[in-house]
Amino acid sequence: MAPRITPKRIAEFIEPFRVKPGSKVRLPHDFDPEAGNRSRRGADAKQILASGVEMLADLQERLAAQDSYGLLVVLQAMDAAGKDGTIRHVMSGVNPQGVSVHSFKVPSSEDLDHDFLWRYQKASPERGSIAIFNRSHYEEVLVVRVHPEFLANQKIPASLRKGKDIWQRRYRSINDWEHHLVENGIRVVKIFLNVSNEEQRRRFLSRIDEPEKNWKFSANDAKERTFWNSYQKAFAEMLSHTSTNHAPWYVIPADNKPFARVAAAAVIANELIDIDPQYPTVSKEQRDLLQGMRGALGGDADHGRHGAADKAAAAEGAKPA
Ligand code: ATP
Ligand code: MG
Repeated sequence: MAPRITPKRIAEFIEPFRVKPGSKVRLPHDFDPEAGNRSRRGADAKQILASGVEMLADLQERLAAQDSYGLLVVLQAMDAAGKDGTIRHVMSGVNPQGVSVHSFKVPSSEDLDHDFLWRYQKASPERGSIAIFNRSHYEEVLVVRVHPEFLANQKIPASLRKGKDIWQRRYRSINDWEHHLVENGIRVVKIFLNVSNEEQRRRFLSRIDEPEKNWKFSANDAKERTFWNSYQKAFAEMLSHTSTNHAPWYVIPADNKPFARVAAAAVIANELIDIDPQYPTVSKEQRDLLQGMRGALGGDADHGRHGAADKAAAAEGAKPA
């Protein structure tokens, strides 16, 4: 039988995936993409995820009712790590009105006319809701770092674009921006779905071999794969500089999809549990007011269609014109 989910178990389960602020991360040395294959939770994953999804639905409902905190979930990964499937499964039970998913692709010319965080700020969550970034502001220190031509495109004054310094400044800007969000009640958690080179190869091959998966494969994905080592380095440096107490990174082993989904659900649930959103309480005066309205609705006479209000309306309708 799958173990019962408790807040304590969730916190313990995700702890090994959290990147300690200030630690220097090496990939894949420090986080094993295959760890999910060995976990007991991998075998029970379907059952655990079902309970996790229910728990998320309840927490999200309270978050919406409280209408005070928001939650930003950042999802980053190499291609074919399972971002889309993770979002679909983890959020399957949540009221769609309370969640928005934002996919960030190559920036538009309007995006490029602004500072690099502009388009992400616009998509940050409303109070009471969850926003999921499918790719995020972290592309600005990943793909943009691996491919300098993207940086050249960003119209930044030449004197501000020089040297290694720009990445340090971007990390600082990102940390400051996330801190700003958190200090305004918008919590931030960041998930890196950590897939291995070999597993990515297998998934690409199945996208080529299985006709119903062909649409998922693009030539560009194969090209990006040749930059694997540069991406690993960029990810490792990003994790080292931007996992903070206010907005930690979680590196989730992603070679086993069911396990990765459970772990992602756990990270999100853990943050919502920490927020501990509450239904607004109603004051004595408001309760009295509600009782008064109950009377006005005919709730005191009897229930249902034949209440006093219904009878009055029926009499009204029967009057000759
Ligand atoms: P899918 O899983 O459906 O393939 P995807 O997120 O890979 O989704 P694509 O349209 O295939 O979507 O790829 C989006 C591309 O946009 C990625 O290659 C990504 O690196 C790139 N991109 C995202 N943000 C930026 C950015 N700020 N600058 C340059 N390129 C970016
Ligand atoms: Mg793609």
